[in-house]
Amino acid sequence: MGIQENYTAIKDQLPEGVQLVAVSKTHPVEAVQEVYDLGQKVFGENKVQELMEKYPLLPKDIEWHLIGHLQTNKVKYIAPFINTIQSVDSEKLLAEISKEAGKNDRAIKVLLQVKIAAEESKFGLEIDEAKTLFQKYIDGEFSNVEITGLMGMATFTDDKDQVKEEFLILKGLFDELNQLKTLKTLSMGMSDDFPAAIECGANSVRVGSAIFGRRDYSK
Ligand SMILES: *Cc1c(COP(=O)(O)O)cnc(C)c1O
Repeated sequence: MGIQENYTAIKDQLPEGVQLVAVSKTHPVEAVQEVYDLGQKVFGENKVQELMEKYPLLPKDIEWHLIGHLQTNKVKYIAPFINTIQSVDSEKLLAEISKEAGKNDRAIKVLLQVKIAAEESKFGLEIDEAKTLFQKYIDGEFSNVEITGLMGMATFTDDKDQVKEEFLILKGLFDELNQLKTLKTLSMGMSDDFPAAIECGANSVRVGSAIFGRRDYSK
């Protein structure tokens, strides 16, 4: 199947109200443009350098989401234009985003990335750290960020029950924090597990290979 068929098939599977972030990492700007021309406006990249290469070549009304681990010294490059940083995994990073957003006279939307996977390798805040950070935000710290929700990645496994269990942990935290201050976005689910994520309450999914095809990291 080509990109157009893939994209249409994914869109058909998403209930109303579920946002699609098309994850274009490793794919050329021509492929991004093709999906954009089908009506997609929200795209996700996981590396600052790749985003900086693509950004000037693509339409200015694209909403770019950063979904990969972000080093504090690179925040300044994306601060002028990034729509949402989904991968906030430390207080230091959140403070830096707020500072750089301030320099650009804007507020940047962010999601707190919470570690829900059993795997050691995945980035993210522990549940308690996320709660603490959110409380500081409510108390008025980080004045140039808007925490709009949470992001999480489940363990890479065929065990559907485990994946759902992990998604439900994040949904529980989302509901809890949402009582303190309204949150909009619960970002969970990728090509292989987005239907499960939606069942567990996700209202934003990050889909790459199911739209663009397999990624080739050798280039
Ligand atoms: C690459 C990536 C995705 C998309 O993965 P696919 O399996 O290709 O859909 C989603 N979220 C994050 C954080 C990613 O790095």
